[in-house]
Amino acid sequence: METAYFNGNFLPKDEIKISPDDRGFLFADGIYEVVRWYEGFFYDMNSHITRLKRSLRELRINWPDADSFPTFANDLLKLNKLENRPAMVYLQVTRGAARRSHSFPPPEVRPTSYAYAWAFIPDIQLKETGIKVMLKEDIRWSRCDIKSVALLPNTLSFQEACENGLKECIFVRNGLITEGSHSNIFFVIDGTLFTHPESNHVLSGITRKNILRIAQESGIRIREEAVQENRIRFVREAFITNTSAEVTPVTELGGNTIGEGVPGPVTRLIRDKFESEIKAFKG
Ligand code: PMP
Repeated sequence: METAYFNGNFLPKDEIKISPDDRGFLFADGIYEVVRWYEGFFYDMNSHITRLKRSLRELRINWPDADSFPTFANDLLKLNKLENRPAMVYLQVTRGAARRSHSFPPPEVRPTSYAYAWAFIPDIQLKETGIKVMLKEDIRWSRCDIKSVALLPNTLSFQEACENGLKECIFVRNGLITEGSHSNIFFVIDGTLFTHPESNHVLSGITRKNILRIAQESGIRIREEAVQENRIRFVREAFITNTSAEVTPVTELGGNTIGEGVPGPVTRLIRDKFESEIKAFKG
């Protein structure tokens, strides 16, 4: 039986009861985080906690337990016998349950928190071969920097990609490439690494941040600047990043072959350095 975390307690998952009046259910009024367990440590947990607190602050959800995330995430792994396996932990916090109203509930209404862990089997093959992705107008709101559970534009777009045999949907806003439905995207043009700057139009990915650091340490020229859709023909390499896909090369973008249609040297260097770092952490 799977054990989950719910409002500070550990329960069999199917015994958890969430009110139909929960604002997560009624309004998607909540935030989430996903952390990766590499058989011994959570990858950059501190950055996930910082982002979690920021998302809560931006939505004005007063949840005092953010600092206990590593503790209950560890407990979840133990309770579900996942400590020695690659795993992920998902955490969601909503504004809690109250009679439906657009205004916030009174302060005594406590947020709802829920977390669970699962064994994660990474797709090593895709990191070798690369993926084909689609391009589509960014139909999301203007606070993509908040890791909100309101992900309908992301799920609709990703589903469209899946139905077309593609592995991600990359968004374009006002002619500029922003990010993917659940990933950030990087490009290599004339030997320089480009990615959209941190802004309200993208999520500040934890992997993104670490890849920028690795690229800098490797002496790669970096420009945190959005790439225009009409410059795709100049793109020699592209890759997406996120907690689960890590660094995954992109070989086709919106029907355009990228470079030689295989993962390029900068992408491979960054991917390999990221993987070496993980191995070094494991000891
Ligand atoms: N952008 C979006 C829209 C995402 O959903 C994600 C995945 N959380 C990312 C970027 C990548 O973030 P991270 O590297 O922290 O997983």
